[in-house]
Amino acid sequence: MTYPVSYYSERLQPKPVPLPALEETIESDTCIIGAGLAGLTLALRLGEQGQTCVLVEAEQAGWGASGRNGGFVSPGFAQSLGVLDRKLGRDHAKALYAESVKGAEFVRARATAMDGVIQGEGRLQVLRYNAPDQLQRLTEYMNKVHDRRYFVLSGEQLAAELTSDTYHHALFDPDTFTIDPLAYAQGLKQLLATQGDVTLFEETPAVKLEKSGAGWLVTTPQGSVAAKQVVLTGSAYLGPLYRPLASAILPVATYVVSSVGLGAALDEAIRFRGAISDTRLASDYYRRIEQDCLLWGGRITTQQSQPHRLAELLKRQIVEIYPQLSHLEIRHAWSGLMGYAVHKMPIIGELEPGLWSCTAFGGHGLSTTAMGADMVAAALTHGDDRWRLFEPFKARWGGGPAGRAGTQLIYWGMQLKDRWQERRAK
Ligand SMILES: Cc1cc2nc3c(=O)[nH]c(=O)nc-3n(C[C@H](O)[C@H](O)[C@H](O)COP(=O)(O)OP(=O)(O)OC[C@H]3O[C@@H](n4cnc5c(N)ncnc54)[C@H](O)[C@@H]3O)c2cc1C
Repeated sequence: MTYPVSYYSERLQPKPVPLPALEETIESDTCIIGAGLAGLTLALRLGEQGQTCVLVEAEQAGWGASGRNGGFVSPGFAQSLGVLDRKLGRDHAKALYAESVKGAEFVRARATAMDGVIQGEGRLQVLRYNAPDQLQRLTEYMNKVHDRRYFVLSGEQLAAELTSDTYHHALFDPDTFTIDPLAYAQGLKQLLATQGDVTLFEETPAVKLEKSGAGWLVTTPQGSVAAKQVVLTGSAYLGPLYRPLASAILPVATYVVSSVGLGAALDEAIRFRGAISDTRLASDYYRRIEQDCLLWGGRITTQQSQPHRLAELLKRQIVEIYPQLSHLEIRHAWSGLMGYAVHKMPIIGELEPGLWSCTAFGGHGLSTTAMGADMVAAALTHGDDRWRLFEPFKARWGGGPAGRAGTQLIYWGMQLKDRWQERRAK
């Protein structure tokens, strides 16, 4: 299957040709299943450390969530730091966050060396009601505890960047940046080609996984890989290959649209060129792309609804916030699946001897896939045990269809809570 039509796939040059599928029986130190950013980065890290590695991808590199997302790269997790602080204690939460900072730095370093992958710098987090203390507290916490460089914008500073009656306050995080994630995935694929000991097979789904002697055997439609160790990086697209992990991952669909050129109206509405997101629990996130276009993401469902209807919903949302953009026309609308565990944290670690997981990054995977890949590569090559920071977040059954229904209810509940909070504050 080719890449879904999106702003990113349209922009991709040259159009990538799939690499040959696996058609033989081979041996390798490691076999990775799934070439999203987790699998690609892990393969690169292993190759750089001299391990033989085979990466099998059912479609093409970056075909899943990795090539369709909003492109916001920031440290942190799908779960909030407040919850991690309360559950694990300050030191543990700090150590986790620090690892995700390293993940973001890795992406920045690699993406900077690739042409046209970095697209914007900095992030505005905007508040839809009048509660400046809330942003001040968040800023103090992030700067003091997590060594960030956040600051709260004055009303004038915010007005210089955005023109919308919806927003009352904003904070600025200079360290977030935005990328074209599909171009980044292609860049990683090209780097893999320079690693003699790493082979990527595209259009090669792993259809069976079984123990074999001291290692594992991965079967594909026309071949197989015998590996000392296997790492599962298939996220929401993994399917039933290994049930204990598949049943722990809730696939959650989310949506992005990109506009046609908006001309001078975009400058009137949004002058800021980095990432913008609101502080809602069910947040909107968006950014300018190209000269005068907008990329906007939001909403989640646990069933894949038609992007067509969602495009209209998202357009209505945009125009509510920026009436200046009432002439906006959608150019692309696409969806993707995020893999969420019930604890909203990645599942990183050894599931059984020689079988590893580096997956379930939820809606916050651009920095954390790099972090997880680094931890697992270090564990496999020299027994590093930083991955144990994730031991509290095991692969727990996500509740099947009831879990999905529950997730949808939680999202609707979050939307109601957002609206109630905004009304109360007004
Ligand atoms: C619309 C959208 C917007 C998002 N926005 C952001 C954002 O702005 N910032 C951010 O940090 N995160 C964002 N995310 C989340 C982020 O994209 C993901 O967390 C991250 O890309 C997950 O990467 P991954 O490698 O774990 O999984 P994926 O990218 O989903 O890759 C999994 C791969 O495994 C393959 N696969 C699965 N099963 C098999 C099998 N049996 N055999 C072979 N291959 C298999 C699939 O084909 C797929 O290519 C967003 C996600 C979506 C969907």
